[in-house]
Amino acid sequence: MAKNPRLMPESPALYRGEVLRAARLTPSMQRVTVTGPQFAAFPYRGYDHWFRLFLRLPHQRGLELPELSGRRWWDPYFAMPEEIRPHCANYTVAGFRPGTGELDIDFVVHSGPDGEPEGAAAIWACAVRPGDPVALYDQGLIFDRPDDASEVHLVADESGLPAVAGILRSLPAHTRGRALVEVPLDADRRDLEAPAGMEIVWVVRDDAHAVPGEAALAALRRRTTVAPTGC
Ligand SMILES: Cc1cc2nc3c(=O)[nH]c(=O)nc-3n(C[C@H](O)[C@H](O)[C@H](O)COP(=O)(O)OP(=O)(O)OC[C@H]3O[C@@H](n4cnc5c(N)ncnc54)[C@H](O)[C@@H]3O)c2cc1C
Repeated sequence: MAKNPRLMPESPALYRGEVLRAARLTPSMQRVTVTGPQFAAFPYRGYDHWFRLFLRLPHQRGLELPELSGRRWWDPYFAMPEEIRPHCANYTVAGFRPGTGELDIDFVVHSGPDGEPEGAAAIWACAVRPGDPVALYDQGLIFDRPDDASEVHLVADESGLPAVAGILRSLPAHTRGRALVEVPLDADRRDLEAPAGMEIVWVVRDDAHAVPGEAALAALRRRTTVAPTGC
């Protein structure tokens, strides 16, 4: 789904904080909870609310951040010298508790042949300690349901699961449709809060060599009625 300027913050804000705790949610998902003095004011809008996550580099003790203002975050970011420029990756709000200013982030963890996590953000998430610095740059929503949609259909692999979970939690109670979610292992399936009319279909990949997302797309094709004309 394309980004819609209407769903992006007019003046995105940078939220500086620190890790509160981290725990394994399912075998392939590590949940990191972060907090900070400004977090209670995070303008959480539900659905697939996402942000740019800034992390310190492995050799750094502190987190150096660009001076960000407005939507063109990348100019000041790439102007920073490479050796101090923080790692940046896109993540979704997996949970938000304004009362305590706590925000959950769910990181997919892929392990390499040696069993160690791969991917800079997942490596960080699996090694964090309380007090480690983080920063979030609010990016708003991508999900944009037309008002006249009769059904909602969601398809995702495990990287999109936090977004699907947020969308299901936020949809009006009368919504009908289906969410097809591919996960690496059977044990990665979990309860999702959703309207009663939303069917949740788990597609378990169970193959370390398969390309993530292909099984979900195949499942979608099996369920999609295509007329002989191809329309
Ligand atoms: C709007 C948006 C929201 C997102 N929200 C989330 C979210 O909430 N949670 C989430 O986990 N992802 C999310 N993603 C995906 C995430 O941004 C990407 O996976 C990103 O590349 C991770 O950053 P990284 O720096 O670790 O990437 P890299 O270091 O480039 O790693 C890339 C990805 O490859 C994966 N990878 C590494 N080794 C393997 C392997 N052997 N097999 C398969 N994959 C492997 C890593 O786990 C990592 O996810 C989101 C993406 C977008 C666009």
